[in-house]
Amino acid sequence: MNLILLAPDDIAHQGLARVTDPRRLRHLREVHRAAPGDRLTVGVVDGAIGRGELLSLDAQAATFALEGLDQAPPPALPVHLVLALPRPRMLARTLEHVTALGVKRITLLHTRRVEKSYWMSPELEAEKIRQHLVLGLEQARDTQLPEVTLARGFRPFVEDTLPGLLEGRRGLLAHPGMPATCPRGLDEPTLLLVGPEGGFIPWEVERLLAAGCEGIHLGPRILRVETAVTALLARLF
Ligand code: SAH
Repeated sequence: MNLILLAPDDIAHQGLARVTDPRRLRHLREVHRAAPGDRLTVGVVDGAIGRGELLSLDAQAATFALEGLDQAPPPALPVHLVLALPRPRMLARTLEHVTALGVKRITLLHTRRVEKSYWMSPELEAEKIRQHLVLGLEQARDTQLPEVTLARGFRPFVEDTLPGLLEGRRGLLAHPGMPATCPRGLDEPTLLLVGPEGGFIPWEVERLLAAGCEGIHLGPRILRVETAVTALLARLF
């Protein structure tokens, strides 16, 4: 928690904020070892970053006096990430990592090798997803919550959604064995597609290439989804 992310509900009135949830209170005590008088970095969800002077901290609440909320959050990556829905624990970690890296648009996609049961996971509830995004924002000192969309069918995604996403974006399909290596140092709007643990099936690869995506690879090593996404984003941007 390199930044204390305040939701509108946390801001009591003019210049005062109150944090009451056990996770953040424990973190303030045990990791920050915070004491009244300390100044910590705070940010408002989808808003600015500034400092908060800790006025009091007990088992029920931490109270901050906010000052200078006038810094912009770090710039976002120009990427929309389309991720085949990973298993719930991998999803949680991947959402956290990509949020910390600056991804603001995420589509979770069904593909043939995504287990149907993953779509029933409580990890897909909006509040659960938000918790992982918040951890990523706190880590990276960011305030802008990413937008997460669920695409429960591959065919409707390719036919109805993908053409719009590719308007004004360069589509990159990460798939081992593609002829082109992953490009570097992009600053253009990009759509990045990453497959499930079993990979995209050949028919899916064909459809995505036919829709206008470029196939790219990261070398001969097959990486886990969370590693692949991190390596791809680091190399692309
Ligand atoms: N078993 C699959 C790989 C799945 S890895 C296979 O052998 O094809 C999960 C996803 O991570 C892949 O779908 C791809 O999007 C990405 N990925 C992992 N390693 C990669 C590599 N070396 N090059 C490109 N993409 C990779």
